[in-house]
Amino acid sequence: MRLRPAIAIVALIALYPAIRLGTGPTTEPEAPADIAAPEPVVVEVPAPIAPLALVAPASADVADVPPEALQPPDPPIAAAVPVVEPDSGPEERILTVSRGDTLSRLLDSAGVESADAHAAVTQLSEHFRPTALRPGDEIAIRLSTDETPSLLEIEVEPEPGRTVRVERLPDGTWRAQQTIAPRSRFLVRAEGEVDGGLFPAMTRAGVPAGMALSLIRILGHQVDFQRDLKPGDGFAVLFDRFRDSDGDVLGHGQVLRATLTLSGRTLDIWRHKDRSGGTDWYDPQGRSLRRSFLRTPLDGARVSSGFGPRSHPVLGFTRMHQGIDFAAPTGTPIYAAADGTILSAKREGGYGLMVRIRHAGGVETRYAHLSRFGRSISARRRVRQGDVIGAVGSTGLSTGPHLHYEVVVAGRAVNPARHVQPATRLAGSELNAFRARQRTLDRLVAGLGAQDEVALASD
Ligand SMILES: [Zn+2]
Repeated sequence: MRLRPAIAIVALIALYPAIRLGTGPTTEPEAPADIAAPEPVVVEVPAPIAPLALVAPASADVADVPPEALQPPDPPIAAAVPVVEPDSGPEERILTVSRGDTLSRLLDSAGVESADAHAAVTQLSEHFRPTALRPGDEIAIRLSTDETPSLLEIEVEPEPGRTVRVERLPDGTWRAQQTIAPRSRFLVRAEGEVDGGLFPAMTRAGVPAGMALSLIRILGHQVDFQRDLKPGDGFAVLFDRFRDSDGDVLGHGQVLRATLTLSGRTLDIWRHKDRSGGTDWYDPQGRSLRRSFLRTPLDGARVSSGFGPRSHPVLGFTRMHQGIDFAAPTGTPIYAAADGTILSAKREGGYGLMVRIRHAGGVETRYAHLSRFGRSISARRRVRQGDVIGAVGSTGLSTGPHLHYEVVVAGRAVNPARHVQPATRLAGSELNAFRARQRTLDRLVAGLGAQDEVALASD
């Protein structure tokens, strides 16, 4: 999507301190909630994988990083940035999507008449689903400069090189057009050493900022950055880059593999798309990184009551505590502990507002005393590990804001602190496909020589 560099830079500066590596006793700001690892999971690598050959970081590409790659996870609040045209032609504005925005709402807030907005969006929808807009995405609109400005054009860039434009024709009807720039796909390797922070080191090595951020979030579930990451540790990232026929960078695709070399161990993760179309991260042996339940389904909480018999704080007599209580401020987001399906999200007596999720293997997790449910959390809805399902509260029989978290296996409550899901592992032809892809990538990387990128078959 279009993104103005100024906005991206502001967002990055805001995020930067949070991702700095803790190197000394200096006051380090706390990691933001979404980057802090609730529970580091060690991915063991029994056999060393052929290390990626060292290549000079593609410093020239840092400047090449296209603005659209800099999508911050939490976009600034700025909704509309007027761009004043030099002459008195139509006025162009860039609208930035905020959390919870719809295209119609965005147009409405820019003063576009609802009949115009509806007609334009209807045409636009032929090539672009407005619901695909994400916070931080940008759309450009043109307005006439009459006394009552009216909408002339909307332009979106759903992905680098693909532009969809809807414009008002002289007869008042709307026409949508899609432009696709021919592009070639390249495999890029960015390598570097950590000194001071993983994020700046990655961006210096040519990893697009948005990509570095999402990678750090994934790695954050495996590594405790504050404790495990030391100056001198290294990383290597393989990712897609798209160029147009002139060789100009159109944008970047996905990370295919990331390797983090810590002083004590190596973390090597591979992205793999399975036959059902689901994409996930795997260790080199094909084990999913999602194999564990989050033991702490919220950030920054402390255990206020463990699993087992206790004197009930409200009822006053001793009984089995079927779960773990985490004390946290009201409103703290609560995450689905693992992939699953919502069984129910409703008020349940002493539990107050409670969400139940059914997981593979006959496991159910329960989240009680919530102040509210997450957006669109309702029965039968599928959730992925880490999705926000609600917020901490004190509804039901509760003495203060906390999350009561239960894990129920085959109808019996078990200690959530001990419950781990067996590793889901690629098998059979799926594993063969994964291995074949690993070999292909290894071969390509080995052939890179001193180059930083190699052409791939176009997708
Ligand atoms: Zn409890």
